[in-house]
Amino acid sequence: MTLDTRLYIHPTMTLHDPGHGHPESPQRLKTLYQSLEESPISGTAFVQATPASKEAIARIHQEHHIQHIEEARGRQSSLDADTSTSEKSVEAAYLAAGAGVQVIDDLLSGQTKTGFVLSRPPGHHAEADRVMGFCLFNTIAVAAAQARSKGIERILIVDWDVHHGNGTQHSFYEDPYVLVFNTHQFPFYPGTGRHSEVGGGDGRGFTVNCPLPAGMADGDYLKVFEEVLVPVAESYKPQLILVSAGFDAHIRDPLGAMNVSEDGYADLCGMVLNLAQRFSDGRLALFLEGGYDLQGLEKSVRSCIQVLTGKTPPQIKASAQKGGDKAIEFARAAQAPYWSL
Ligand SMILES: [Zn+2]
Repeated sequence: MTLDTRLYIHPTMTLHDPGHGHPESPQRLKTLYQSLEESPISGTAFVQATPASKEAIARIHQEHHIQHIEEARGRQSSLDADTSTSEKSVEAAYLAAGAGVQVIDDLLSGQTKTGFVLSRPPGHHAEADRVMGFCLFNTIAVAAAQARSKGIERILIVDWDVHHGNGTQHSFYEDPYVLVFNTHQFPFYPGTGRHSEVGGGDGRGFTVNCPLPAGMADGDYLKVFEEVLVPVAESYKPQLILVSAGFDAHIRDPLGAMNVSEDGYADLCGMVLNLAQRFSDGRLALFLEGGYDLQGLEKSVRSCIQVLTGKTPPQIKASAQKGGDKAIEFARAAQAPYWSL
């Protein structure tokens, strides 16, 4: 059966240019758009993104942060060591956040079951009051806040980017309405995401971190998902699932040191889709984060979209190396007070 999937795009998001030689290059999104336009995947429809309102962004970001971004509108500037803007960058960041708002509205009104926000700049490192790691606004956090504003009370965010999603964790650390599950290379940029980071205040137990050593492959990721994410989600029963879908754990990626394949990503996507179908009325949205090898990125994004539209995932065996098993053991211990794993 073919399922409908909306793909949120905008040509201006390909114009954000952080500078010559920067890994987060305009070519990433150009490659994806070109591939999906020239060889469309049956069951998908493109939606042109519209910019987010300041109100939607202000649910996550502080006024002075928004002001800081506004000052970079229409010009080149360097906002931190690795985050720069070009003429169209601020427009692109508003469009990315706007696409995040749109996919939530479309999922909640039943216009679509699943969506993929194919946006740049990425978002998951941006914190309430600062840009960071190529990210201006935290797109997935703005999307989750939109869902909260519509009365959704249990949102699951899965972040499989090779880097820890510090910004998203930061936004919801004390929030029991948004459960943030993160798996990432560790130690690695940005340095956060230890097992012991489990949330604070009312949000204790609603942050789940699974740091992994370098060299982990499909089987490790699948086992971590099977033994940590799935049981947590079965207890939590999310009403909506959002994924920070970075593809920089791909074996070809120049920044990450993991060995995940496009088939592995298809399986991770399949597991999350299965959770959405069991608990969230099928409502699932993916948000593009990292992924810096163009071939690995294109193949992985296409594999995930195919799964979203109903293709059966490859079903690689979930079997971990020593490092993967250890990570699961540590996650179990850290989460024992909150979840039975
Ligand atoms: Zn990343």
